[in-house]
Amino acid sequence: MKKLAAVFLAGIMCASLAACGSGAADDAASTDTQTATEETVEETEETADDAAAADTEGETAEAGEVTTVTEGILTMGTNAAFPPYEYYEGDTVVGIDAEIAQAIAEKLGLSLEIVDMDFNSIITAVQSGKVDVGIAGMTVDPERLENVDFTDSYATGVQVVIVTEDSDIASVDDLEGKLIGTQEGTTGWDYCSTDYGDDMVIPYTNGATAVQALLDGKVDCVVIDQQPALSFVEANEGLKILETEYAVEDYAIAVSKDNTALRDAINTALNELIEDGTVQGILDKYITAE
Ligand code: GLN
Repeated sequence: MKKLAAVFLAGIMCASLAACGSGAADDAASTDTQTATEETVEETEETADDAAAADTEGETAEAGEVTTVTEGILTMGTNAAFPPYEYYEGDTVVGIDAEIAQAIAEKLGLSLEIVDMDFNSIITAVQSGKVDVGIAGMTVDPERLENVDFTDSYATGVQVVIVTEDSDIASVDDLEGKLIGTQEGTTGWDYCSTDYGDDMVIPYTNGATAVQALLDGKVDCVVIDQQPALSFVEANEGLKILETEYAVEDYAIAVSKDNTALRDAINTALNELIEDGTVQGILDKYITAE
């Protein structure tokens, strides 16, 4: 119980300090931070109480038992230009990943802090202990598995192709010889470089800038994950998504290889949230059936 009390205190103190935890963001390029609200801390307190009760039954991840970069806080690295998984509403990062992370943090008796950074920096941030987790619609892939651990998967991702409405690209088979816009460091960028050669693939820092390049005629198409693709096509006139899919993948949470206790605790929490329908509820809130 002492440990739990310490966690509450750290959380409450953090909520009252506007700059809490921002040190992690200071030295990262183009970063932004967001701390938990008072309301979140109250919710956390309740959840931790529940967790303590359930703990005796051995059902829930043990609140306060995991070590995090900042005590009492789950620090999440993401790239908040990836709707509907993570994007800004005013100054706040919202979306599927933000809500799933919040639910996991509550189960672990932690408050959540989100650090926005380039997608390509997230794995390094997890490895170097700048953040606890990378939650960014991130695909489990063998190369990343050499550097970080992944939790169980919480969603499926599909790589699709965005073209202009008047494009002569009708299917994935027509991509040969075309200039392809991608997001740097993503699986889409990786597959396209392998399939069509580095010279034909232009990496942009995020999906929005890749789509802008397509609108400006600088690339012939953009390969990106399906849900952000739908958001970008909806927000911009004259674009469409090809019906053929490029690849189907699993999204999961990246955790440091040095913190397997955190990975295991997140897996326990995540699987509870999958089983009780919370994860599906969050996905349904942001993704409308076609
Ligand atoms: N799913 C893709 C990847 O993991 C893209 C993720 C993203 O851009 N946020 O590489």
